[in-house]
Amino acid sequence: MSGPRRLVVALDGPGSSGKSSVGAAAAQRLGYRFCDTGLLYRAVTWLALERGIDVADRGALVGLVDQIELAPDAAGRLSRVIVGGRDLTDQVRTAAIDERVSEVARLPEVRAALLPRQRALAAGGGIIMAGRDIGTVVLPDADLKIFLDASVEERARRRAAERGLGPDEPAARRILDELRRRDRLDSNRPVAPLRAAPDAVHIMTDELDFEETVAAVVAAVRRAAGADR
Ligand code: C5P
Repeated sequence: MSGPRRLVVALDGPGSSGKSSVGAAAAQRLGYRFCDTGLLYRAVTWLALERGIDVADRGALVGLVDQIELAPDAAGRLSRVIVGGRDLTDQVRTAAIDERVSEVARLPEVRAALLPRQRALAAGGGIIMAGRDIGTVVLPDADLKIFLDASVEERARRRAAERGLGPDEPAARRILDELRRRDRLDSNRPVAPLRAAPDAVHIMTDELDFEETVAAVVAAVRRAAGADR
C-alpha cells in the first residue's frame, strides 16, 4: 500500500508572518522538503550591493541569478544560500537587505530568471515552498495553497522580540515602519504582487502561537493529501 500523496504546497504571506520558521517546522514534521524563496531575492540584492551594481541595472542583476545556489541545512531544508562556495545566509537576512530587496524583487526580468529554478525545485512533490507569489505565479497548480498572515503590528512585535527589543524602543518602531513599507511595495508592484490566491487557505496567526501555527499548517496538508485518495 502506498502512503499519503506527497503534495506541492505553496505557502505565501507578508514579511515576518512566520513563513520560513513555520514552513520549515511543518515540512520537517511531514517529511517534506522546504524551500524559502525569499533567500533568492535577498541573495541577488546582497550580491548587487557588494559588487556595486546599480539595482536598476536589470541585465546585470539577471546575470547574478546563476551564481546563487540554495543548499540544505542540517535538517535537509533548503534554507541556506550559497554564492561561489560562500554561505551568505546570515548576511542576506540583515536590515540593510530588508531595505533594498523589494526594489530588486519588483523587476520582471529578475523574477523571470528565478522562475524556472523555483519550479524545478518543486518538481516531484513533497515540498513546502514559501514566498509571496508561489500560489499565484510560481506554482499556480500547487496541490495546496496556504496564505499565512498576521497584522503588521503583531509581525513587528515578533520580529522585535526575536532581536531582543522591547516594543517601545526606537529600533522596534523602525521595524514596524519598515514592515509597513515592504508590505506596500510588495503588494503594489505590477508583477507578481503579494496576494493570496483565490483558492488559498488563510491562516491568521495573531491569536496563535508558533506550535499552534505549525499544527494548523500540518493539518491543512494532511487534510489535502487525504482528500483525493
Ligand atoms: O520572505 P522574505 O522576507 O525573506 O522576502 C524578502 C523579499 O523578497 C520580499 O520583501 C519580497 O520583495 C521578495 N520576495 C518576492 N517573491 C517571493 C519571495 C520573496 O518578491 N516569492
